[in-house]
Amino acid sequence: MRQALIAANWKTHGSLSFVDSFCAQLASELSDVTGPDVSGSANDVVICPPAVYVQVLGAALAADLGSVRQIGVGAQDIGISATGAHTGELAAEMVADTGGQWAIVGHSERRLDQGETDDLVATKAAAALRGGLRPIVCVGETLQERQAGQEIAVVQRQLEAVLDRVDVSALATGAIGYEPVWAIGTGETATPDQAQAMHSFIRAALAEHDAAAAEQVKIIYGGSVKPENARELFSEIDIDGALVGGASLDPASFAQIVAAADELAGRKLKIESE
Ligand code: PEP
Repeated sequence: MRQALIAANWKTHGSLSFVDSFCAQLASELSDVTGPDVSGSANDVVICPPAVYVQVLGAALAADLGSVRQIGVGAQDIGISATGAHTGELAAEMVADTGGQWAIVGHSERRLDQGETDDLVATKAAAALRGGLRPIVCVGETLQERQAGQEIAVVQRQLEAVLDRVDVSALATGAIGYEPVWAIGTGETATPDQAQAMHSFIRAALAEHDAAAAEQVKIIYGGSVKPENARELFSEIDIDGALVGGASLDPASFAQIVAAADELAGRKLKIESE
């Protein structure tokens, strides 16, 4: 049984005062929707704020939510070098040093805005692992690519570049995020069937390299996930959680998405044991 992962991507949002108010409100929202003490829940929850807030967010989550839930922190991107003359770059080792455990790599906004190539994304996934971080490797097609029937080919190409550099068993420490670009920040969500079809393809592609490890890899969906559609998406067998952008900035919405994953994990566990 794979544990779920709910990962928040704050993008370029937040401030010190937002961190304070967010954590205080999340503590009360999570207590309301998941009960007063779910610290035993095995699902992973992580918040990736802008990197300058990783440390302060980690401390605030521990202070405000310590008795409610363990929530990790991570970066939205990392550089490929551990150290050296690379002005402006952030090393995975530095994220880990400040309490981060995770790093998103290959988000479509970076692929499009910063021209990140498949090979660079793969190198970043390897750099995250080298630095002790759990990578969330994003893949996904644009609307044009889907309309041209190329979505499988695109995701396969992005995935194979990563698998050239990283073992499936190493990826199992982190996650793959399937994020159709046309569903990010648009309010348009892939249907559960569309998402499940791609997640199942991704797992099969991983299995070609290492069948046992492929079963352990969390494959999470991203693209306008909200409380209203989370349950339906998480009910799919290969959808192991979500990467959440917009809705992760609202503590009430984020808490409900976490609660949906907790509820489903219990149900999937029951089905597997029957
Ligand atoms: C994202 O940025 O990874 C994302 C999925 O954004 P949103 O939830 O806003 O679509």
